[in-house]
Amino acid sequence: MNTSDFDCIVVGQGLAGTCLSFELIRQQKKVLVVDQDIGARCSAVAAGTFNPLVFKTFSPTWKAHELLPYLKSFYLDLGSFLNRPILNERSVVKSMKSTDQRRLWNIKSQDEDSRPFMRSALEEKVHGVHSNHGFGFVEQSGNINMLDMLREFRRQLGESSSLMEETLDYGLLVIENDHVSYKGISADYILFCQGLENVKNPFFKHLPFIPAKGEILVIESPELHTQNIIHDRINIVPLGGITYWVGSTFTWDNLNMEKTPEARVDLVDQLQDILEVPFKVVEHRVGIRPTVKDRRPLIGMHPEHGRIGIFNGLGTRGVMLAPYFATHFVDHLYNGSDLNREVDIKRFSARG
Ligand SMILES: Cc1cc2nc3c(=O)[nH]c(=O)nc-3n(C[C@H](O)[C@H](O)[C@H](O)COP(=O)(O)OP(=O)(O)OC[C@H]3O[C@@H](n4cnc5c(N)ncnc54)[C@H](O)[C@@H]3O)c2cc1C
Repeated sequence: MNTSDFDCIVVGQGLAGTCLSFELIRQQKKVLVVDQDIGARCSAVAAGTFNPLVFKTFSPTWKAHELLPYLKSFYLDLGSFLNRPILNERSVVKSMKSTDQRRLWNIKSQDEDSRPFMRSALEEKVHGVHSNHGFGFVEQSGNINMLDMLREFRRQLGESSSLMEETLDYGLLVIENDHVSYKGISADYILFCQGLENVKNPFFKHLPFIPAKGEILVIESPELHTQNIIHDRINIVPLGGITYWVGSTFTWDNLNMEKTPEARVDLVDQLQDILEVPFKVVEHRVGIRPTVKDRRPLIGMHPEHGRIGIFNGLGTRGVMLAPYFATHFVDHLYNGSDLNREVDIKRFSARG
């Protein structure tokens, strides 16, 4: 018989912690979330887009055919739980950079693997957007209302006394063979979903993150009028009304939360190349992506402490990866199914 106060303590309520906690709740588990908005919380900066194509090759991203249908049903379900729509299905309108790229698009749109995600409309015009070589439309893509989802999930956790708003103190964690406890609260498992804060976690700090800083702008453009996501090296994502998310940059040094004038100038220059309508910058924000050496998520249990797990490493495609792998991890924990070896943290030895 289960005598713990909770089935799981989940540490972190970004995208990873939210999807994992929701999956646990869906599977009738009792969850306590410990979260403090500290450091480089990147979910709050992300546009929340999902897109099944790699733009260099127009090939599907890793596991796109499995992840996409799952993502849709998961976020619809999460939206019903939260009593609000969080999933927006939108095309990504890809501006073609050259005749070679157009040719590649045409070839790939005949390919069995890529075809379901591509609509050829190379001659179509897109209001307010410049392109010398036309546009391709990526289908089965879109974005989620990330901030709204995070806030509302947090509110509901608070209402059901399932939220501790504090920074978890590792020194107060007691690990036994059959449970863990924290400040007198017991649970069968503790699962860490800390994004980049994981570098401070004594149990998992050996895992090889290669963090990537990203800066974004929020703009207003009353004449753009698009419901699609525009892609031309950067993304322009509708946030509602005349407001759009624009980003983002990628840098692997100076991994701090400083907004740089260089990034702002770079993004504005790119916008001026793409947009044929006026815009005004209203915000500039920063986040750091929890990207992993081999670009696969980091999931599994600690090699010596079977009560401690991790769900992290969502990198640049968290929105696509989190739903499928949250269910995959919960099935592993409670139904004994094997973890996919490509995501299992066993691929990285704790001895380095
Ligand atoms: C600029 C930018 C744009 C992006 N755009 C997209 C996009 O469009 N689509 C997409 O799929 N992905 C995008 N990403 C990537 C995406 O944001 C990440 O994959 C995802 O948000 C990672 O979520 P996470 O929950 O692992 O981490 P985080 O969002 O960082 O959440 C971790 C949480 O854990 C908390 N925490 C950590 N340690 C502790 C502790 N000891 N005690 C209590 N709380 C703790 C933190 O405060 C935080 O709330 C983007 C990233 C950036 C930076």
